[in-house]
Parts: sequence; C-alpha cells; structure tokens
Amino acid sequence: MKTILVDPDRCMQCCLCQQACKDEHCDNDWSPIAKPQGKSQFWVKCNETEVGSGTRMKLHRVTVMCQHCSNAPCIAAGEGAVYRREDGYVIIDPEKAVGNRAIAEACPYGAVYYNEELDLPQKCTMCAHLLDMGWKQPRCVTACPADALTYVDTDELTVDNMYAPLERLHPEYGTDPQVAYVNLPKPFIAGAVYDPKADKCLANVLVTATHMVTGKASSAYSDTLGEFRLVKLDPGFYTVSFFKDGYCYKELSKIDARVSPNIEDVVLYPLPS
Ligand code: SF4
Ligand code: SF4
Repeated sequence: MKTILVDPDRCMQCCLCQQACKDEHCDNDWSPIAKPQGKSQFWVKCNETEVGSGTRMKLHRVTVMCQHCSNAPCIAAGEGAVYRREDGYVIIDPEKAVGNRAIAEACPYGAVYYNEELDLPQKCTMCAHLLDMGWKQPRCVTACPADALTYVDTDELTVDNMYAPLERLHPEYGTDPQVAYVNLPKPFIAGAVYDPKADKCLANVLVTATHMVTGKASSAYSDTLGEFRLVKLDPGFYTVSFFKDGYCYKELSKIDARVSPNIEDVVLYPLPS
C-alpha cells in the first residue's frame, strides 16, 4: 500500500499542489471515482497560520487533504455510499452519495465539501482514477517542487527509514489516518534578554523551558541580539528559566506555550559585586 507523506518543513506555500488538484478535477468527470470538483473546494489545501506576535511571528504551514482513514467516520455515515478500496483509499461513490450531507458532516478534518450544484459530498480521491490508469503518484505529489509531498510505500514508514518522527494529523480523532506527516508545526516560546544597567542585549544566556506537567525540558542560547526561540514544544504551560554567568538567575512560570507566546524583553541583572 502507498500513501502521501507530508513534510511541512519543506513546504514553500507555492500552492502548486492545489492548482494541480484543480486542473485534474475541475470540469473533469472521473466517474465512477469522482464527479467534477465543485467551486470553492480544496481537496488538497495549503493552510497557513500566523503564530506568535510582533517580530517574533512565524507562519505555520500544513498541507491537508482527506486523510484516507482506516477507521473513517464518513464510511459509517455514508450507509454504503463511501467505501475503502483494496489500496486503502476512501472513495465517495458519486452516484450513491447524492443528497447525503451526513458524509460531509461526519469528517472531523473538514475534508469533505458539499457540492450544492450536484447535491453531492466531494473530497480527495488520491487521484485513484490516475493510479488505475498506471500513474505512479497523485497529481498534487507530482506538482510539488519541494518534496513536501511524497508518495511512499507504507512499509517505508518505519523508525529506521524516517528522518523525523512519524506523525498523524489529529491522532486524538481516533480515525487512524493513512496519510502521514513529519515535522508538523509545534508551539514555540520566543523573546529577548537584556541587561538594563549596561543597556545591552545579552548573548549566550541559557534559556530552558520545562513543561509544568511532564517535566520535559528544552533549551537554547540567546543570540548576539539577545533573541531566543525554544521550538517544537509540546502544548501546555512551562516554567522558563534564564541563566548566565555573572547574572542573577531568573525564572518565569505559567508561560502558556499553546499560543506560541512572545514573552518580549526579559531583564537580567548582574550579580552584586
Ligand atoms: S479524512 Fe474525513 S473524509 Fe477522509 S477518510 Fe477520514 S473521515 Fe473520511
Ligand atoms: S506544492 Fe508542495 S511546496 Fe507547494 S504548497 Fe503544495 S505542499 Fe507546499
């Protein structure tokens, strides 16, 4: 079996995957796999979210599509109109699904759109019509110039073969997605450290964020401008400590990393001589 592996770290937000999907599916009837894609639909979508604030803002990019779940609520809602193929891809039958809005409502990822013109729920088919014609990969993967989307054998998705830990989008939904991810964006804590007495930015301050529930710690040193950024944090509340030889130790608690906070300027005072 094969699936799409998405690496948001490689994504340039060029949206060529979106365009390729539209080129393949708009105005084209690929029955019995899919009717023409309706207006304002994005069977593959490049989502971009601003996180942090001010100069410490960052764009988090995640390309999403139907996750072709092994435990798919849309199949249950479809009452025979949604099925899984032998290759694992979940397909909405465009004849049987007419008028069935429950299919769209059942998807926790919001991956199913409702085509009012055709009175039909629609979504990504993994370009099953092309694969059936001998294509080696779906159109979106072919179009991606950055290898942010790759079409891989599911057997290759092992700890030994992966260059980053394998993840699934919203595993808490319990749908066991077939589409896989690496490098999904995670919260960060950013800010800067300075010495108000000397009126200077402080480089090489050891900044450590410790998760207040799990105790998991992450560290980084401030740069020449005093800037620091603790990345790839688990969501939650953190205690953030600041240590530099010759300066008073400082600790901030209950920093909410769920929102990738910019904790602005942190003041460190020199130890009394
Ligand atoms: S992502 Fe949504 S539409 Fe796709 S298989 Fe899972 S539940 Fe069904
Ligand atoms: S084509 Fe690739 S790089 Fe461009 S937006 Fe899509 S996933 Fe990102």
